[in-house]
Amino acid sequence: MIKKIIFMSVAICCTHFLLAQTPQLLKVRKHFENNQHAIINEFVSFLSIPNIASDSPNIRKNAEFIMSAMSNRGIQNVQLLFPTTTKAVPAVYGEVIIPGATQTIIFYAHYDGQPVIPAQWAKGLSPFTPVLMSESMEKGGSIINFPTTQAYDLQNRIYARGASDDKAGVMAILNAYDALMKTGLKPTVNIKFFFEGEEEAGSDHLHEIFQNYSSLLKSDLWIICDGPVHQSGFKQVVFGVRGDAHVDITVYGSKRPLHSGHYGNWAPSPPMMLVKLLASMKDENGKVTIKGFYDDVIPLTAAEKKALALVPLVDVQMKKELGFPEQEMKGISLAEAISLPSLNINGIQSGGVGKNASNVITTSATAVLDLRLVAGNDYQRQQQKVIAHIKAQGYYVIDREPTEEERSKYSKIAKVTLSSGYNAQKTQMDLPIAQKVIAAVQSTTSEQVVLIPTAGGSLPLYVFEKYLNAKTISVPIANHDNNQHAENENIRLLNFRNGIETFAALMMMK
Ligand SMILES: [Zn+2]
Repeated sequence: MIKKIIFMSVAICCTHFLLAQTPQLLKVRKHFENNQHAIINEFVSFLSIPNIASDSPNIRKNAEFIMSAMSNRGIQNVQLLFPTTTKAVPAVYGEVIIPGATQTIIFYAHYDGQPVIPAQWAKGLSPFTPVLMSESMEKGGSIINFPTTQAYDLQNRIYARGASDDKAGVMAILNAYDALMKTGLKPTVNIKFFFEGEEEAGSDHLHEIFQNYSSLLKSDLWIICDGPVHQSGFKQVVFGVRGDAHVDITVYGSKRPLHSGHYGNWAPSPPMMLVKLLASMKDENGKVTIKGFYDDVIPLTAAEKKALALVPLVDVQMKKELGFPEQEMKGISLAEAISLPSLNINGIQSGGVGKNASNVITTSATAVLDLRLVAGNDYQRQQQKVIAHIKAQGYYVIDREPTEEERSKYSKIAKVTLSSGYNAQKTQMDLPIAQKVIAAVQSTTSEQVVLIPTAGGSLPLYVFEKYLNAKTISVPIANHDNNQHAENENIRLLNFRNGIETFAALMMMK
């Protein structure tokens, strides 16, 4: 209901909603309908090639598959772009120069995927043997045959690693270009294609590729296709991502594990110390209590505040879908919550539980904290605030195992190790080119396009700015319940087709 009211109010203020289903869009849609079997067969072949970044031979096969898909479509200057220090994870590049075009857009997706644990996948599913399901497994979908002549039901889903994250991106971008070529539609911008091969492994060599090919990669904008559309099902345009950094904390008790009957009440309990320390970092309302945690945040602009206010409220829907009644940070929406820096406990470890449980006082307890950052935060400064908080709780902080002397001197010792990390990245949504992107995406749908100043997730988009001085805007296409990074990853065919239409519109943006 709430969603409906917001939708109406947006529809009233944005008259260009009426322009949806332009003749261009209908041509692209028809092209998909007429070629759906070939398009999906090619996608399935692509998904059948294992794509874990550390698996160099298969990564190269993926890259070669993309190169021939590009050459088949008449894309020019197709080549692998190599980092300086390795040949293992090339990016795939191609371009189309349009006579008279004054702007150049680079379309980005990544072809590697998260590591897989096949045993965790549901019965009948296997990460690199794509199958078609009638609908999502959670909604009772079952495995069906890929149709050979009959039209696809666009509610069907393909299950495979990379189906949504992010081979759908690669294929949607290439098929969008193909649709323009085959239907006589003309791109309005020079198009460059850039498909990365180690995004899920941390993009460690991306900056080397950028340094080696900086003139080839000149552009007015990068459009990043990665991640899901809004939980409401509406398309979304995302102007920034949060940064990310980690803090690992270990606290110590006795040097050897102790019988909890013989020593309980007397020996210090590391897991108890750790949970108290962690609990001191947040209040009852989910607000981080670490001194200065929110201090560096650059306030949202008027345009960003307006966009946030128009984000459809999915909180009720998502809480029901996910099975909990109340959000951690009270009184604010999901969209507002992810516009703030966050502190999450990724994991806690001390003794065993379940079959491994024993009556023991453990020697140490460890937690991994995940810090998400927004514009204004510096990841190292944010990590230092956590350390200052740990010290303020009476801990002696070191970055290695404690010595005998330290153990006998300090009752509260914390080993704190810091990961490398990166800062948030944001493109201003009122830039002329940003407005063109919004209008192009809006031209493909009669529904609201959700504008997100900063997405909850993190991507190292700062690399694009630092090494290429480039702007980035994300236009994701996958269904929100795609299980990316987990077992049973999937893409709904409607999202894939809509993605093709979205990229085709962006290639023709005015
Ligand atoms: Zn991804």
